[in-house]
This record gives sequence, C-alpha cells and structure tokens, in this order.
Amino acid sequence: VPPPLPAVSAASPALLPLAVGPPRRAPLSPPLPTAPAAAARLCSGAGGEAEAAGGDGAMLRHLTRKLRASGPVTVAEYMREALTNPGQGYYTHRGGVGESGDFITSPEISQVFGELIGIWYISEWIAMGKPPAFQLVELGPGRGTLTEDILRVFKQLTSVLSTCDVSVHLVEVSPKLSEIQAVMLTGGKAQPSPEDESAYMKGISKTGIPIFWHRDIQDVPPGYSFYLAHEFFDALPIHKFQRTEKGWREVLVDIDPEVPGQLRFVLSPSRTPATQNFIQPEETRDHVEVCPEAGVIVQRLASRIEKDGGAALVADYGHDGTKTDTFRGFQNHKLHDVLSAPGTADLTADVDFSYLRKMAQGKTATLGPIKQREFLKNMGIDLRLQVLLQNSGDTATREQLLHSYDMLMNPEKMGDCFNFFALLPHHRLVHPDKKDKPESKSPLPPVAGFNELLLK
Ligand code: SAH
Repeated sequence: VPPPLPAVSAASPALLPLAVGPPRRAPLSPPLPTAPAAAARLCSGAGGEAEAAGGDGAMLRHLTRKLRASGPVTVAEYMREALTNPGQGYYTHRGGVGESGDFITSPEISQVFGELIGIWYISEWIAMGKPPAFQLVELGPGRGTLTEDILRVFKQLTSVLSTCDVSVHLVEVSPKLSEIQAVMLTGGKAQPSPEDESAYMKGISKTGIPIFWHRDIQDVPPGYSFYLAHEFFDALPIHKFQRTEKGWREVLVDIDPEVPGQLRFVLSPSRTPATQNFIQPEETRDHVEVCPEAGVIVQRLASRIEKDGGAALVADYGHDGTKTDTFRGFQNHKLHDVLSAPGTADLTADVDFSYLRKMAQGKTATLGPIKQREFLKNMGIDLRLQVLLQNSGDTATREQLLHSYDMLMNPEKMGDCFNFFALLPHHRLVHPDKKDKPESKSPLPPVAGFNELLLK
C-alpha cells in the first residue's frame, strides 16, 4: 500500500514521501569509480587529456566528401552530422549514455535523483490545483532511467494521483536509444506505430501508464504537460563565433590541407548570416557559442505552457551568458578531440541559460539557474539518503549510496556545475490581479527545489 502523502512543512521535512523501500539499484562492486573510468561530463575545462580515437571512419569519409564538394561547414552543421546523422551519427548509431558508454549522467548514478524530480512534478501538480490529466514529456531520455525512477514515484503515490490521467511522451531521435528505453520502461512490449501517426512507437509502462515515442516536440499532442530536459540541451548543435580585428567571424570546420583525413577549425572570411543574427551589439566576450535549436525548443515549450498549462524543468551543465569556449567531446569517459573520428564520440557544449531565458520571450516565468546541490538539498536529498542508508542491510550498498550522493552533490563533482532551470506559467508565481488586491489572496506555494519543499 503506498504511503499517504504526508504534510511536509519547512520545519518538518522528515515526512518526505518515499520514506520506505530499499534502494532499487543494486550496489555496484566496487562502487562506481570516479573519473576517468565512469566520469560525468563535468563543466568545460574539467577532465584529462583528450584522447584520439578510431572508429571505422564512415562519418569522416562522409564529411570530407561533403567539405570537398561545398566548402567548410558551421560547427552546428558538423555537430548535427556527427551526433544525429541517421546512418552514422553518434546518438543514432552508438548510444553512448551509461557506465559502459562514453559518459555517465546523474540518473544513471543514483535512483534518488529521479525520485526527487518525480516529487517535483507531483508538488507542482498539487500547487497548480491538481489538474485532471497531464503528460510527462521527456526530451532526450537516454536509457530511460530518469523516466523509470519518476514513474516509480508516481506508482508509490497512486493514492494521490488516482484521479489523474497520466501519459508519458518521449522525444527521441535515436532508434537505438528508443529500443533501450522501450526495454527499460515497458519490458520490451512497445510496438511501432503506423507511419501516419505522430508517435513512431507506443507501449504501456511496467506501472501501467501509456508511453509514446516522438521524433520532435511538435509531434507531442497539445495538452497540460510537464516537460523534462536532462542533459538534452547540451547535445544540440552550437554555432561558434570569434571576435577579430575585422569584426565577428564564425568558426567553421574544414579539411586540413596539410594532413590527409584530418579536420581543422577555420574562420569565415567575412560575416555569416549567423554572425549577423546571433551576436548582440553589447557583447563583451571574444568568443561566443549560440545554440539556436535550443532557442527554438524553449520557444515551443514556453508557447505550449502558456497555452495549455504545465511546467518545464531543465537540468544541465551551463552558465548564465558568461563562458566562452566550452565545446568538447567525450569517449570512454575521457575527453576526446572534437574533430577526431566524428560519430564515435559524444560532442557537447555548456548550456547558456541566459539565452534560454531570453528565448522564453516572457511567455512564461523562469526560475534559476540554481546549482544542482542546492536544488537537490531543497528537494530533501539528505533525508532520502538517511532513509535509504537505514534500510540498506549491507556495507556495499551503503558505500554505493554515499558515493553516488557525493558525485551528485560535491561542488567539485556534479554539485556546482550542473544547474536547474524552470519555465512556469506566470500565474504560478504571481496572482494575476495581485497588484489590485494583494491582501485578498492567499500566498502562492513556493516552487520546490528553488525553495524548500513544502507538500500539503
Ligand atoms: N537525459 C538522459 C540522456 C542524455 S544524452 C540522461 O540524462 O541520462 C542526450 C539524449 O538526447 C539522447 O537520448 C539523445 O539521443 C537525445 N537527442 C540528441 N539530440 C536530439 C534531438 N535533436 N532530438 C531529440 N533527441 C535528441
């Protein structure tokens, strides 16, 4: 029987839901190693020497043919080809996430991470007046672990959610990863959908919730939705710009004429359409990265939340419009030269949260970025750790719990460089008519994570 949702106040966070149950994930023996064997992709600059790599060279051949035929391409075009080219792209072909892959992410490190995010959605659902239905929409779900942990929370809180019609929509371009997600979430019982449907695959979760797979956020049906993007925006293609004596120039990728089969960065001889569109006149940095695709997706999320209601939670490493050169590659948990063996390594750049905020265009309110360790602390991670430690019978499990807590929370690991950022309807933060009659309204509940969790 799921525990009733207890009343939690700031003064008594000891009553967090999920206070029962042993740790789900089996202890790894030995506990998850620290870098480099299973390293998280920490903020730019972290990590060791870049590794050169092999691969069968199919993507490099494809790219050099293209470059020979039509000249240098933007870094965004290079990144798009290397990551999501339908034949040989890194995500489409190789997958990459997880301990046996090239990089490890918070949900893969600890079940507690996804559980606290599940609580965040329940807390927002309650604060928004318990709407009768919602879609949980995850962008770039990787192996599906985060959604699985969230669905377990929903299952444990069935008594709270019983009147609510919940469905899950996964936005995933990689056929390889969508197969892994289907095994993880449905036990392999997902079916391809007919071509004309907006979902390319559907199934029922092990906890009985319908799940749909889409290639694009625009294919997700309209409706009240909670969106989630964990380490998604960092994988989208960026443009890179360099300030020169002659003004801003775009960084491009070309063939190195000196070394056969090698690529190199060059500067555009003149301004490009992207330099015109993306560099602000007041820019003070000498090197700037812009991710227009992230901007378009945030615009869509903000429009959808404004129209149909809901919220979006974005978690990623990033900065608030201050960093410069953050483009980097990962292979086998080590830094990897971004131009070497494309298609065999993950390519990524820090998320510019100031750009995401700007692209919401005031259609929603925004909160954050707030550091991961503050967000998780506000969500009650310390208490959850204590409960799991008390319920775990053996030393290996306890060591694993403490190790994963340290990975998520330590400022020198993932605690400081990962951030949480949210889009919320304006009325969630300010009463629409507050200005007129402030005293007539009860205060709005604070947003969990950005403030301490309060569940009623
Ligand atoms: N959220 C997961 C995985 C992060 S890796 C985790 O934290 O573990 C990035 C994910 O985004 C992968 O699932 C990748 O296939 C997906 N992805 C990358 N580019 C995409 C795009 N343009 N559209 C949809 N999904 C994309």
